[in-house]
Amino acid sequence: MIQLTTAAKLENAINKARTVKPLVRVVKFGNYTVTNKQTGATYEVSCMKRDGKRFAGCTCIAGERGNACYHIAAAVSAHLQLAFERATLNF
Ligand SMILES: [Zn+2]
Repeated sequence: MIQLTTAAKLENAINKARTVKPLVRVVKFGNYTVTNKQTGATYEVSCMKRDGKRFAGCTCIAGERGNACYHIAAAVSAHLQLAFERATLNF
């Protein structure tokens, strides 16, 4: 798990996600699978909020070592969009 603080800390991962363009599937709110369409590799990303802090973790090697991988960047982007929609639509 890594703590998500500023977008700057995810910048490299975000850039890689933009290049790789992985497929993000929503398992449920906060749980996602991220698939590299070129290699077919799929990892699970979870996002959570605890004590007002945001955390995310990924099952890939980089993620398990506590690094911000592009799977996390891609899933967090989808997660924030979902969170925004939930807040806006109030469901
Ligand atoms: Zn990962």
